[in-house]
Amino acid sequence: MRGKNSPIRHDYSSGSALPDSSRPSFQKYFWFAAGLGLPMLVVWFGTSLRDKPIETPVVAADAAPQMVSAEPAPQVMQPAAVTSALADPEPPVPAFDALKLTIKSGDTLDQLFRRNQLSVADLMTIATLDSAKEPLRMLRPGDELMIEHDEGRVMRLTRHIGIQQTLQVTRDDAGQFAASLEERPVEYRQVRRHGVITDSLFVSAAAANLSDKVIMNLAGIFAWDIDFVYDIRVGDEFYVIYEELWQDGQRVDDGEIVAAEFVNQGESFKALRYVKPDGRSDYFDDSGRSVRKAFVRAPVDFRRISSEFNPNRRHPVLNTIRAHRGVDYAAKTGTPIMAAGDGKIITRERQRGYGNVVVLQHGGNITTLYAHMNAFRRGQKVGSRIKQGQIIGYVGATGLVTGAHLHYEYRINGVHRNPRTVNLPEAEPIADAYREDFDKVTAPLLAALEDFKRLKLAESERAPTAL
Ligand SMILES: [Zn+2]
Repeated sequence: MRGKNSPIRHDYSSGSALPDSSRPSFQKYFWFAAGLGLPMLVVWFGTSLRDKPIETPVVAADAAPQMVSAEPAPQVMQPAAVTSALADPEPPVPAFDALKLTIKSGDTLDQLFRRNQLSVADLMTIATLDSAKEPLRMLRPGDELMIEHDEGRVMRLTRHIGIQQTLQVTRDDAGQFAASLEERPVEYRQVRRHGVITDSLFVSAAAANLSDKVIMNLAGIFAWDIDFVYDIRVGDEFYVIYEELWQDGQRVDDGEIVAAEFVNQGESFKALRYVKPDGRSDYFDDSGRSVRKAFVRAPVDFRRISSEFNPNRRHPVLNTIRAHRGVDYAAKTGTPIMAAGDGKIITRERQRGYGNVVVLQHGGNITTLYAHMNAFRRGQKVGSRIKQGQIIGYVGATGLVTGAHLHYEYRINGVHRNPRTVNLPEAEPIADAYREDFDKVTAPLLAALEDFKRLKLAESERAPTAL
């Protein structure tokens, strides 16, 4: 059965509050971690093997993936221009002066042109060209403009827009400007990586030449089933097939993971990427079951659990015995609160005890409640349909509270259950309508994964005493 959902198998389940409870919100945590940068990640993964002393992992800043020997190295095509430039000891001198302008905060193009003695009249003409208008208006700090000029007269202006487009403005012999947008096609190449856990996931994955981005995605995909703080063990393995984005013979970015397998304590978890016809992508196992749950365990990125689910609690404000029928997640005022699952808003109001409170109705007669919000998310109302992970409000201290926290309740048929231990339903499997397409699309991914595993197995059998 997929899903190690029961808390009972964890002997630490009643211990320190943070790691166990935060496990199912791990995917969400990752989005936060991604936003906050690497240090949080390092802390997170650095504590992964609890039988070992905690070490400060060395972060491989640049996990350049070219060096894994088993990989068929991507064929790097040497662009013709480079080849001839190398062959020619003295490349031709460009006809005009070249300038690279980097936009800084507060800059206007007009100022930049004046500062560099470029013709402002040329700029005004260029800015009226259809293809150039928009790209030249939408400039952000860090953007670059390449300009060739002849004593200030603009001869050519080039600007990359994202990685896929380039704006080219050229002056013809008659002195007229012409602008065009050129597509810069991106090539997707599949890359395969295999890693064995010898340390934290982060360190082991970096050793397998996975970039931070791919590591985060990998952990995010399996976070619903594997607790990367407590569950992983030395000897666990992963196989990943992901896309690299290449352009002009250079790797420009890592793309999505298309297939992956994580073997955790002998149990194997597979994830195959499937893009639905509506363009949304999701991960399923080889039988079409979602790798996700229908609910996240904790709908907020919290600092600690300030009050557990407890039917016999003394209320901190009222000082009477009153069941605490939810979990309190302490977090800073303003921290976003996310819908735990897909649903519909059925309550969104200010109440005396709960303060600003939202209740969502989900399938299976499940409701979730989010109390003491500092503010609701704008643009939503009773009846709004909400997606899992969508922000519905912000942590606050409204109602009868002693400090900022989210009070979160999970109810099945109106009966309160402990959100931290309740068995969470799986997210929807692949829809019947997509089933045939799913099988067709994922069969080669699965085959590639199996191929890769066979290759790795053969390798390890050939070199059984690698150490
Ligand atoms: Zn509470």
